[in-house]
Amino acid sequence: MSKNMKIKYYGVRGSIATPGKSFEKYGGNTTCVCIETDKDLFILDAGTGIRNLGNDLLKRQFGSKEGGKAHIFFSHTHWDHIQGFPFFLPAYLPQNEFTIYGETKEIKSQDENNLERIETWSIERTLSTQQTFMFFPASTQNMGAKLKFNEINHENSIKTKTTEIKTLRIFHPNNSVAFLFDFFGKKYCFCTDVEHNDLMIEKISDFAKDADILAFDCQYTPDEYENGRKGWGHSTYEIAAEICNRAGVKNLHMIHHDPSHDDKMIDDIHKKALRLFKNTTAICEGQEFFI
Ligand SMILES: [Zn+2]
Ligand SMILES: [Zn+2]
Repeated sequence: MSKNMKIKYYGVRGSIATPGKSFEKYGGNTTCVCIETDKDLFILDAGTGIRNLGNDLLKRQFGSKEGGKAHIFFSHTHWDHIQGFPFFLPAYLPQNEFTIYGETKEIKSQDENNLERIETWSIERTLSTQQTFMFFPASTQNMGAKLKFNEINHENSIKTKTTEIKTLRIFHPNNSVAFLFDFFGKKYCFCTDVEHNDLMIEKISDFAKDADILAFDCQYTPDEYENGRKGWGHSTYEIAAEICNRAGVKNLHMIHHDPSHDDKMIDDIHKKALRLFKNTTAICEGQEFFI
């Protein structure tokens, strides 16, 4: 029995997809990662990258009569993390089953009399709203596969036969969730859409302690962050390197590349990041890792 965890990135662009020649190396699809062990398949976020993942899965058991099962975890529900879901073809086949996890949000709004009310948005409600008829022809109810929705409860980790998944709420407009996958002591930490402050740096350093890989939101250069991007919900390679050094992380994966950063600019940012933390990779769409 193989005891490896395979991580493949299907989308590493932040905010909005960026097709075009100057984005070919790092890729234009928004966030989606696939993690596989010998027994489980996990999907992190459903940005536009999940369309290619779906096509790959259809060539395997998810396209067969027996069907397949996977878990899908949502860090949060900004467009760049959910937009690919309606184009995830395995979810339309009745033999497949997906267990979906996301945070339930309480959102303040005003009713017609200007009275404040609280709206509850479960992951099920948010995904099905994205697929109401005004926006997309097929509803989530018509997707065919068995979709089981679960709320993330940060008190309890999620356990499968082989893997324990811990969660941490992180600072971002309307919050995001970081995930730590522990597969027989091999640890992959996914931490995207996070803006740093002292408390966050401390909490994430504890959460990612001794991880083999930390995938971290490196959307901005430190200069961009300081000049007009504060409060936008993202971080820098400088902070990522600080966390990796503090937490004893073995490898840093830079993700959530800014849509205005072309290949040349990301190459340049990567060089600067390497000076702060040796084992840093600026992730390209399609890259695979084994731990
Ligand atoms: Zn994002
Ligand atoms: Zn976001």
